[in-house]
Amino acid sequence: MKKHLLFLGPPGAGKGTQASVISEENCYLHLSTGELLRQEVEMKTSLGLQVKEVINSGKLVDDELVLAIVKKNLTSNKNGWILDGYPRNVSQANSLNLVLRELNQPLEVVFYLNLDEEILIERLLNRGRKDDNEKTIRTRLKIYDEITKPLINYYQNQNILEYIDGDRDLKIISDNIRQKIGL
Ligand code: AMP
Repeated sequence: MKKHLLFLGPPGAGKGTQASVISEENCYLHLSTGELLRQEVEMKTSLGLQVKEVINSGKLVDDELVLAIVKKNLTSNKNGWILDGYPRNVSQANSLNLVLRELNQPLEVVFYLNLDEEILIERLLNRGRKDDNEKTIRTRLKIYDEITKPLINYYQNQNILEYIDGDRDLKIISDNIRQKIGL
C-alpha cells in the first residue's frame, strides 16, 4: 500500500477534500501548506502578518518560508502523509526531494486532479474563502498555469504521476484514488 502521496492540480479541483478523506481514513498526516499559512494569518503570528497580503492577492509565498513550514510539519509519520498544495514550483519540488531523502521516505504517487477552468472558477466563487474573490482567483489560476503546471511533466518523468478526472462525484474520485494506492 502506498502511503507517501502528493495532490497536484489547480485551485478548486478538490485536492483538499480528497486529501482529507484519504488521510483521515488511514491516519495519514494531511499537510496543506495553504491551511497552515491561513492559520498563521488567523493567529496573527509574525509569519502570518508577513504572508497575509501575498495570500490575499493570490500570489505565491516565498519558497524559503514555505519550506520551513514543510520541514517543521513533515515529521516521520509512521502511517504516511499527503502533501496538498506543496510543491507549487520546480524549485520547491527540488527542495522537497532533498527533505524526503533525509527522511528516507520517497514520494510514491502524485495524483493530478484536473477540472475545466469554468468549473474551477464557479467552484471557487461558491467556496467563499477570503482569497476566493474574482480578482484573486484569476491570479491564482494564472500562477498555477505558469508556475505550478510544469510539475506535471516533472513527476511524469519520474513515472509517479496518476491522472484523476476531478469532474466526477466525490465518492467515485475517492474510490479511484483508493484503488491506485492499493486500498
Ligand atoms: P491553497 O490553500 O493551497 O490554495 O493555498 C492558499 C495560498 O497560500 C496560495 O494562494 C499561496 O498564496 C499560499 N501557498 C500555499 N501553498 C504554497 C506553496 N507551496 N508555495 C507558495 N505559496 C503557497
